[in-house]
Amino acid sequence: MNEAARLQPSADGTADIGGELHALVSRLFPICRSITGEGVRRTLAILSEHVDITVREVPSGAQVFDWTVPQEWTVRGAYVRAASGKVVVDLAASNLHLVGYSEPVARRMPLCELRTHIHTLPDQPDLIPYRTSYYSRNWGFCMAHRDYLALEDGEYDVFIDTTLADGALTYGEVFLPGETGREVLLTAHICHPSLANDNCSGLAVLARVARTLAARRIRFGYRFLFAPGTIGALCWLAGNEAGLSRIDHGLVVSCIGDGGGPVYKRSRRGDATIDRAMEAVRCDGREVTMRDFSPFGYDERQFCSPGFNLPVGLLQRSAFGTFPEYHTSADDLDFVRPEHLASSFRMIMDVVDILETDRIPLNLSPKGEPQLGRRGLYSATGGHTATSDITMAYLWVLNLADGSHCLLDIARRSGLPFSAIAAAATRLEACGLLGKSQA
Ligand code: ZN
Repeated sequence: MNEAARLQPSADGTADIGGELHALVSRLFPICRSITGEGVRRTLAILSEHVDITVREVPSGAQVFDWTVPQEWTVRGAYVRAASGKVVVDLAASNLHLVGYSEPVARRMPLCELRTHIHTLPDQPDLIPYRTSYYSRNWGFCMAHRDYLALEDGEYDVFIDTTLADGALTYGEVFLPGETGREVLLTAHICHPSLANDNCSGLAVLARVARTLAARRIRFGYRFLFAPGTIGALCWLAGNEAGLSRIDHGLVVSCIGDGGGPVYKRSRRGDATIDRAMEAVRCDGREVTMRDFSPFGYDERQFCSPGFNLPVGLLQRSAFGTFPEYHTSADDLDFVRPEHLASSFRMIMDVVDILETDRIPLNLSPKGEPQLGRRGLYSATGGHTATSDITMAYLWVLNLADGSHCLLDIARRSGLPFSAIAAAATRLEACGLLGKSQA
């Protein structure tokens, strides 16, 4: 990948990338997703309009490591109706109203019993929380605390029209082959219902990254995974164990459409190339806040479990659980903004550029400094007190090009941007001062 191939905002139709990404998020947002079922299939069908996705299904009951693929959940409707006939909660108004994986219910009950199945957020009384009960049979509704307080004593008809039956778990995979046999893994979860940032943003941005890379010459193969959280990642890992040693870099992407952060959680290894690459990128000029690995979060928990220990980190704008909209009805299409989706997309493409262009240069004239001036690489007039960044980039690359430092190492040690170091290396290679780069 040469410098000319670097993404230019308007060079490949990405000028209004933010508007395009927000439009895709808006299409995905209303779908009632869960870890299995039609919501995942419909979501993958929409993403397939943008990139060629292979849809895979794993049957209910399949054993994956310590887990069992659950039955498939189908939801047709759900509501609670007061004796007066007034519907007080309705899935049709928001798919957050029903606890994910609720079993079917059709009966009348007093308010005191109904209350034990209702989840609210007393501190955010106007918001609907997001709750699930995947692995223990249960049912429930989520509602605004303000509406919950307004429920009058009496009898209520509870109707949950769902099916839990043997079926399949569905996930989608895209593979773009590269020039080497090495791979980059990029994943986003696909299991949340109407939550724009914590789900739809990652799906939309990664689908667009895949579409962009599909049109490029790439050194690495890129594997994109759109899978339900935890169990989907485990299904993929179980089905692909033999190929995992090909993965050199990976990112789990979530909550990528708000204006916070960016925040990156390092891989369990802590010193993987992807960890150092994330230190080197900027998002709208902002540095990435680096956090050390912890075994809590998204599917990096599975990829970084000790039996795999893959070089995979977690990239977010605002860190999950830290913004008040997280897992509530406020994580909506207004919370996710086109400009933030666009800057996140560009940040990920910049990381890809680093992975694609990083190399270990070798100085072919290592005894003393080579004379830069006669090669047009150095200001002809001596005596300047300040040396330009361009000159410093040449000097740093030549000095550290001893076969044991990659360009990322040189950027870090010099304090210069990776792009400046990469450009200097390319120029020095053209002048014959640097040897053929190693991968
Ligand atoms: Zn979540």
